[in-house]
Amino acid sequence: MTGTAPPVVVRDPGELRARTAAARRRDEVVGIVPTMGALHAGHIELVRVARAHAGLVVVSDFVNPTQFGPGEDFERYPRDLDADVALCAEAGADVVFAPAVEALYPEGAATTVRVGGSLTSELCARQRPGHFDGVATVVAKLLCQVGPSLAVFGRKDYQQLKVVERLVLDLGLDVRVLGVPTVREPDGLAMSSRNAYLSREERRRALGLARGLAAAHRLVRSAGSPPTAGAVRAAARAPVDESFDSVDYVEVCDPDSLVLLADDDPVPARTLVVGAGRLGKTRLIDNTVLGEDSPPAVDQ
Ligand code: AMP
Repeated sequence: MTGTAPPVVVRDPGELRARTAAARRRDEVVGIVPTMGALHAGHIELVRVARAHAGLVVVSDFVNPTQFGPGEDFERYPRDLDADVALCAEAGADVVFAPAVEALYPEGAATTVRVGGSLTSELCARQRPGHFDGVATVVAKLLCQVGPSLAVFGRKDYQQLKVVERLVLDLGLDVRVLGVPTVREPDGLAMSSRNAYLSREERRRALGLARGLAAAHRLVRSAGSPPTAGAVRAAARAPVDESFDSVDYVEVCDPDSLVLLADDDPVPARTLVVGAGRLGKTRLIDNTVLGEDSPPAVDQ
């Protein structure tokens, strides 16, 4: 397939399997971009990356109930399949897979895929118990249905990316997982479907997270010797404390194991700085890897 025709919308997993099997018979690379819809330029960058590497590009568009906790925004999560399909057409996707909940979770569904260990002990796992079980379970289901050799995820959800990489390794799946750098608004805010919830005033304050990450980069660049993790955490946290209604966490960790660094540890050359905070009812996350990512371009 060339990606020039509008994508086909597929709701039935059987039809999806037939299409991906046909592509594999043609020796095409099958690529998947898992999403929950409400697509924006960040998602579209993932589709473009998939398009560059795959003969058949499948975008899944599924608001996965099992990764939402009680009281979270499952019901009000933005849904607009027509707009998503139009964006996927622009980015050259071949198939938009938009199953009903029952198609992925048949009646009586009783199987959960769980990635354990340090990847799911801290950060978002603490505030959102069961969230990564829901993510791992739906990603495993999607990989089974689609049978891709490429799966594209955003570094915006860095912990999720690490969980998926571990899942693929542990299940011995022949899937290359690509992590795409976070796409930001011109003022530095990480693009997110949840940005749509923000009032104008909250949108302005939302920049605190990107400001904190930029401050962490500045501290490392300006210090003669590596600063301590405690100093980096304090620098990253201050703008979030100032502008968010509440801070879930701002942490400094090993970017592979996600183990938190102790306050006195000097930060290694590659270090993850990651945070989550709330503005009203909206929870936003952001991260950067010092020594790897460019700092968010944000005014201080
Ligand atoms: P979601 O629809 O929020 O579940 O996200 C689907 C995929 O898009 C995940 O792999 C996200 O990490 C990725 N994504 C979301 N926002 C961005 C962004 N601003 N830049 C890059 N990737 C993103």
